[in-house]
Amino acid sequence: MTRRWLQEILYLGLLLIVALIVGWFIGHVGRWLSIAVTIYLAWHISNLYRLERWLRYSRRFDVPSTFGIWDDIFNDFYQLKLRERERKWRLVQLLREIRDSTAAMPDGMVILDRVGEIRWMNEAAGRLLHLRVRQDVGQRLVNLMRHPDFVPYLNGSRYDEPISLASPFSRSVYLSMSIVPYGSEQRLLLVRDTSRLHRLEAIRAEFVANASHELRSPLTVMHGYLDAMREDERLRKTWGKPLDEMHHQTLRMTAIVSDLLELSRLETEQRQAPYSPVNVAKLVLGIRDEALSLGQGPTNIIMKVDAGLFLLGAEHEIYSAFSNLVFNAMKYTPEDGSVTITWARENGDACFTVADTGIGIPAAHIPRLTERFYRVDVSRHRDSGGTGLGLAIVKHVMQHHGAILVIDSEPGRGSRFSCRFPPERVSCAIDKVVTA
Ligand code: ADP
Repeated sequence: MTRRWLQEILYLGLLLIVALIVGWFIGHVGRWLSIAVTIYLAWHISNLYRLERWLRYSRRFDVPSTFGIWDDIFNDFYQLKLRERERKWRLVQLLREIRDSTAAMPDGMVILDRVGEIRWMNEAAGRLLHLRVRQDVGQRLVNLMRHPDFVPYLNGSRYDEPISLASPFSRSVYLSMSIVPYGSEQRLLLVRDTSRLHRLEAIRAEFVANASHELRSPLTVMHGYLDAMREDERLRKTWGKPLDEMHHQTLRMTAIVSDLLELSRLETEQRQAPYSPVNVAKLVLGIRDEALSLGQGPTNIIMKVDAGLFLLGAEHEIYSAFSNLVFNAMKYTPEDGSVTITWARENGDACFTVADTGIGIPAAHIPRLTERFYRVDVSRHRDSGGTGLGLAIVKHVMQHHGAILVIDSEPGRGSRFSCRFPPERVSCAIDKVVTA
């Protein structure tokens, strides 16, 4: 028990003793005692009343003056109020700082609720998305921004990758948008202006395309001279090996240059591939013959091709992608292995698969295979004579067709490259399976 409480009990005791003494001298002890208790009770009730008023209505911080235990109680409440006021002030300061810093951010931020209504946005978001910071709060974002790529992204649930799109309000502005879900079904939309990056990327692609184009003619000339020199018997005697090597290297450079040109073309092509019917069965027969004439890999290719299944796309791009996959399978599979090409429907999609029983690829390399010039193993790459651009071309062709490339592989057991095309890219003729 604290000193204050002992004091309080002492006060009550004294009051009762005084009442007792007065009652003893004057008479009616009981009456005096009950008067004393009533006074004591009245004092407590009046303090309770003052406390309740003070807590409820008082905006001021002066403590009502009293004495005894109530002095302590008022002081304790006063300390509580002070601490509360300080906490509130710190929170307000923090909120103000967050608001000021997010407002000053060059990236746009929009807070969306469960149904996609705007709850808050910063000025950059207003500027980038052409929204009015005050008026548009409370509106559904999809009603204000009806971009065909953005709406499915926002309404979907896969937010692991940001999307890039050309701003619907200005042709020269490119935006990267990403959504971060948080709290109870709330989402934070982050918008970044990537126009500068886009411009640099365009300059880079243009440079690569121009450089490749310029390299073409000198390479053709060199190749022509080397061909002529290789046919000269006198030169062959002394320079045979270097000439063959130079010839081989010019062939490789020509292949790299034409792959670079193909990649640049695919990269700069903004539109989706056209929806022209492609007879995949026929195309694949041509690729198979070409692959067998390479003189590398197995001597037979197993085909499981649905001849009635047509693809809607750009034939030359499809040829480029499928032939790259088949030629790779031949390059990385020994003669006694096998390569199987499958073209079939799978759950509404159409799937082109090249499976081989070759050397395979360690799992750590698979996510990076479609990068330009990515090599699993430099010596393997040099032996194969590849350009290192084949799978990058395949990836771009797939993107152009709204398709995906799935790679499965196990070292020593073989690889499986599947191109999965969505139903809108598939057209059916009479179903007929070609096997060879
Ligand atoms: P390259 O011209 O070197 O074949 P690609 O882009 O086509 O370039 O392939 C990238 C790398 O992926 C290759 O260097 C090779 O190491 C690996 N690769 C591709 N296809 C296969 C396959 N079927 N089996 C094993 N490794 C493969």
